Amino acid sequence: MFQAALRPYWDAAAETRAPAEQRRLRLEGTRRLLDWVTERSPFYRERFRKAGVDLRGIRTLEDFAAAVPLTAKQELRDAMERMGTALPHLCVPREQIVLAGPSAGTSGRQTYQAFTAEDLDVNTGITARLHWCCGLRPGDVFHLLITPFTPAAEIFKLAAQRMGVHWVIRDDHEPNHVPRYVDVAHSLQPTFLQAGVATLRAMVQHAAATFGNKRMAYRKAILMGAALGAEARAEFREESGIDVYTLSGQGSDFNLFGTQCDRHDGEHWHADDLTLVELIDPNTGMPAQEGELGELVITDFYRRATPHVRWRTEDMYRMHPGPCACGRTTRRYTLLDRLANRVTVGRVSVYPFQVEESLSRSDAGRNLEFSLVRRPGAARTLEVRLLRPSTLIAETAGEIERSIAAHLSKELGVPVQAGFHDRLRYVGYKTLRVVDEKDAPVSAY
Ligand SMILES: [Zn+2]
Repeated sequence: MFQAALRPYWDAAAETRAPAEQRRLRLEGTRRLLDWVTERSPFYRERFRKAGVDLRGIRTLEDFAAAVPLTAKQELRDAMERMGTALPHLCVPREQIVLAGPSAGTSGRQTYQAFTAEDLDVNTGITARLHWCCGLRPGDVFHLLITPFTPAAEIFKLAAQRMGVHWVIRDDHEPNHVPRYVDVAHSLQPTFLQAGVATLRAMVQHAAATFGNKRMAYRKAILMGAALGAEARAEFREESGIDVYTLSGQGSDFNLFGTQCDRHDGEHWHADDLTLVELIDPNTGMPAQEGELGELVITDFYRRATPHVRWRTEDMYRMHPGPCACGRTTRRYTLLDRLANRVTVGRVSVYPFQVEESLSRSDAGRNLEFSLVRRPGAARTLEVRLLRPSTLIAETAGEIERSIAAHLSKELGVPVQAGFHDRLRYVGYKTLRVVDEKDAPVSAY
């Protein structure tokens, strides 16, 4: 076994390149991909022809952004219908596919991605960078909770094994299987967890109720699926002894993710030399100005089977300025929210990440799962549903609800009504952060 302590990065050459060199690789890779898809893909050829793209005129990344049209997921779905195939963006013969699978997506028609052997090898390497960055090391016992039918389930396991983590305990990722996950944690003592934020919260609650202790054997965890405030992260460390790192990104079409490093200053985009990410103004499609929020757009130019050219993710991100103290030069982003998750109260737009961050700053609300309720028409009050913790004493619930509502209201600048619920709705392993209710509120706020 190599000396893990002496290896600060999984792939030092790739993760600490000078920014100008990263940029050169992105330009080169993007131009190579344009040639590849134009030659191989009727789907892209048709799109480029309609947009009048002249490949010879693309000399810079700015030229690329100005000339090449954005692609929305709906356009892939339309092409699936029109071309009668689940993989209209496939650029290789089917015999070259070694892995393919559906997204775990829950809205609209299921889409698919495919990998050649080379795609899989590169994506496994990117994922190993990610795992190493979050502190997974040879000798760890890795508890991986993940939707089993997705390519991600295979690739996260392969990446861990590539770095010398031999014991991977893989399980599905369902809210109602939390008791089993906790039992496995107590019985087999895995030391590293990858799971959703809501799942770890439920596991900690369940461990406390069942074993009288919020501690399991995990020393670190990668948490997926939601934002996490700094205070909520500190609480996991203090109460459960777990250092947590958030992960966000694009599993369903790309299997590409960003994660925090031990500095927790944004999430490193680990594939900065193998993909091109842009932030755009979602209304105009123009590049977002430095320091502004923007919709993440991905060109995964390392891919050969089902590559994506300027693919809109519908997720809003903020880029972090300057280099990270960890020494990685890969760019850092924070996922703010899906565009569709905006809830309007009066004239104010509220996103779930703001509620998460604000709850993190309140003693009573920290690490509570929640949903926001959106109803037709103009709302004057933000309705927040909180998942009732198993330790909550009934007599004090009303008082806690009022104190959380007052805290949120003060920080968000809108009237808030907060209430505990025994169940919240889930999509997959994630709590549905915005619930659309057709009915008017029961009480007149
Ligand atoms: Zn860093």
